[in-house]
Amino acid sequence: MHPAARPGDEEQQRTPGEKGRTMEGAESRWAKLKDALRSRLSSQAYATWVSQMTLVQDTGPQLVLSLPNLFSLDWVNNHYRDVLEHELRQLDPGAELELRFDASAETTALPIPEPITDPEDGIVLTQPPLRNPAPSYSGGAGPRIAPSQVKAPPPIPSSPVHDRYTFESFVTGPSNQLACAAALSVAENPGSAYNPLFIFGRVGLGKTHLIQAIGHAIRKRNPAAIIRYQSTETFINDVVQGIRFERMDQIRRAYREPDCLLIDDIQFISGKEACQAEFFHTFNALHDAGKQVCITSDKLPHEIKDLEERVRTRFQWGLIVDLQPPELETRCAIVRKKAESEGIQIDDDVAMCIAQMIKSNVRELEGSIIRVSAFASLSKQPITIELVKSVLRDVMAANSRPLTCERIVQTVSDHFQVKVADLKSAKRGRSIALPRQISMYLCRKLTDASYPEIGTALGGKDHTTALNAFNRIRDRLEEPDIREHVESLERTLTE
Ligand code: ADP
Ligand code: MG
Repeated sequence: MHPAARPGDEEQQRTPGEKGRTMEGAESRWAKLKDALRSRLSSQAYATWVSQMTLVQDTGPQLVLSLPNLFSLDWVNNHYRDVLEHELRQLDPGAELELRFDASAETTALPIPEPITDPEDGIVLTQPPLRNPAPSYSGGAGPRIAPSQVKAPPPIPSSPVHDRYTFESFVTGPSNQLACAAALSVAENPGSAYNPLFIFGRVGLGKTHLIQAIGHAIRKRNPAAIIRYQSTETFINDVVQGIRFERMDQIRRAYREPDCLLIDDIQFISGKEACQAEFFHTFNALHDAGKQVCITSDKLPHEIKDLEERVRTRFQWGLIVDLQPPELETRCAIVRKKAESEGIQIDDDVAMCIAQMIKSNVRELEGSIIRVSAFASLSKQPITIELVKSVLRDVMAANSRPLTCERIVQTVSDHFQVKVADLKSAKRGRSIALPRQISMYLCRKLTDASYPEIGTALGGKDHTTALNAFNRIRDRLEEPDIREHVESLERTLTE
């Protein structure tokens, strides 16, 4: 059996001419598929990815393509599977289809990065890829990821994207109309309308929602389009790792290949020289190739400190639009839309009451609706104006005392009975490392602090330490004792 095949595949491995395809038929289907991909993909994408694939097997329903190494396999599987399957279906409409990738030919092609551990408590950041067994990615019912023991080098995943961040769910009003119209225009004419589109606005006003809506809309119009949404923090992390493990080629490919690159919260690039240089070249490569770049920021280009002039001017090349805090009618419409999407029954006067009380930002507005609804359901009361006023009065009182990283660190120190100085120190023992990680997790969850700011608040730690601590605790929330600590602290902090 071919290494890429699974038990049970024998049925499909008939001799040519029985049920599967003749060799000529297989070759011609593969040739037609390549032709279709050549006209569909950019010449660079075709040359980089498709030209290195070879046909291993074509049984009719199953097509197995070989790639030279794990990285290519991973990349093609994540970025081109949909296009390949779409084009295959076009060649054989209505036919059953299974597309599989195989990298069993890989021997020693990939550099093996040293595994490194977070000094905090031994968190593994990168693992060397294991060589055996040969992986095979499969679509359909089977897992799309190779067996867990096979670790390809990290494929630079996109940052998480929300399905609900679409134009349809974005409520417009005078405060955001221009930004929304510009975003729509970019989604309709990527690479030509405004490039880059720079969306500026304070926290919680819909920047992430709007930039992701652009991605969804482009993808909807053109399912083959390659979209990469990335938070700037992840971009910084990727560049740092790329430099550290000498795999900048891989990072560059990842960022220069998309048809549309969406970079969120670019203000965090301030002071990061190597990342700014990398961003500059990435931007130029994409712009020159007519690919769309969209950027969000909570600061205008001239307000971002320690930013290279050449990068700043690139931000200003296209169109800068801003999101203002929504006015009352828009807030009211957002409340109604959010309630509807959550299945919460709410009268118009109640929606208006919430919109009148919460003016700061949309994220808080959404949180208030959920809070009111949860309170009504737990206390078995209808959602009335009186109930809204009593629930939100508390929220507003709590809001007036802003939650800071300092207060979080102090509360965690009281909770675990460890000194604040120890939390901020470089001590590594578990009795300190866990409270420190929980502090970082809570700072990220409950404040608007960035990872670099959280690192600073915890005694000048690196932003990757804060990022890893957040991920680490988030992933361990299933563990009862961790969850108990975190929930109890959250209650104390938000009461
Ligand atoms: P930012 O990135 O600017 O901090 P987000 O895009 O994360 O803000 O928005 C915060 C929340 O508010 C999200 O859940 C988003 O869906 C919602 N939101 C913001 N603006 C709008 C709007 N105009 N219509 C509907 N929802 C919105
Ligand atoms: Mg955001």
